[in-house]
Amino acid sequence: MSDTVLVTGGTGFIAQHCILQLLEAGYDVRTTARSTSRGDELAGVISSHLATGGSLDVRLRVVAADLTIDDGWDEAVAGCTYVLHVASPLFLKTPKDENEMIVPAREGTLRVLRASVRAGVKRVVMTSSVAAVAYGTPRDHPYTELDWTNVESGDVDPYAKSKTVAEKAAWDFVLSAQNTSKMELVTILPGLVLGPVLSDHFSSSGEAIKRMMNHEIPGMPDVWFPPIDVRDVAWSHVKAMTLPAAAGQRYICAASDSVPLLDAAKILHQRYASEGYKIPMRRLPKFAVRLVAVFDRDLKFVVPEVGNPAHFNVAKIKTELGLEPRDLTEMTLAMAETMIQYGIVKKR
Ligand code: NAP
Repeated sequence: MSDTVLVTGGTGFIAQHCILQLLEAGYDVRTTARSTSRGDELAGVISSHLATGGSLDVRLRVVAADLTIDDGWDEAVAGCTYVLHVASPLFLKTPKDENEMIVPAREGTLRVLRASVRAGVKRVVMTSSVAAVAYGTPRDHPYTELDWTNVESGDVDPYAKSKTVAEKAAWDFVLSAQNTSKMELVTILPGLVLGPVLSDHFSSSGEAIKRMMNHEIPGMPDVWFPPIDVRDVAWSHVKAMTLPAAAGQRYICAASDSVPLLDAAKILHQRYASEGYKIPMRRLPKFAVRLVAVFDRDLKFVVPEVGNPAHFNVAKIKTELGLEPRDLTEMTLAMAETMIQYGIVKKR
């Protein structure tokens, strides 16, 4: 009999790729959605991409559960050997009250972990983020898995705080007496996740590619990010789920150190300019970003990032998990191509 894996937040971009790879590897999958009405839609998306084919009736089950309430989590995790805890609040607009992100991220993680201990789960792999590593501290060295974002610093945005607080709460929980079954934890910390979308849903990490392709921005601010393909993020979760040596480890999940967003724009320009797409290639000066931020509070947290890249050492996930990541060109073009296919980007 196959092991069953719970993937939280099955409607999400990364979670759907995890579900696909788990099904293809022969696992049965349980997943959660805030409402089961999205269950049929989810099964449709997954079955349309499943290379192995076959009926999903038995192998994929959707359970209603919300990170903000207790109901559903025991049912979701019952009988599961492993949990991939991927769900977390992500808003396109920065919330007025940071607790709208922090509280569901932290309390939701603890709900998942408590239910997992009660169910006798062997290992939880949690999706954290480089946002839990690289903010609110001097950028004087390449960040590694030993670094943590300083949530006390004034210029850390609510999302980075939510990921830091939730990941710390998870480590505190598994090391505490509440972890009566000695359940194991691994955390995966992706950079900016690109790669193919599976439907017309896309995560906020696809926003930059969408805006470039639709020419919704006048130019590119000088911001940098460590890129990773969503298929490699999912692969890392699945690998970390069973590799004995991964227990108790954090893994920064990126193909390379940070690259300028302009590099992705150049890749899109080279591929799509001849088809009539006008990719913004001009570098926006910092004063322009600062000026726009006066009117758009969402840019408040971007301003300190302009011309101030965070650098990362991404060796650990390659040497210990064996990740051989796709490169920036492949992940950028895969995202753009599928965004055109699903109508997220206007076809020229
Ligand atoms: P996504 O597509 O927006 O997925 C987020 C998922 O979390 C959705 O399924 C969403 O459900 C669920 N969720 C949010 N609030 C919830 C709540 N209160 N109760 C239950 N479920 C809730 O984003 P994603 O990019 O796949 O992100 C998945 C994970 O990766 C997150 O933990 C994120 O922080 C992390 N991550 C992402 C990136 C990136 O670049 N994309 C980078 C680093 C880390 P609904 O569909 O109902 O909203």
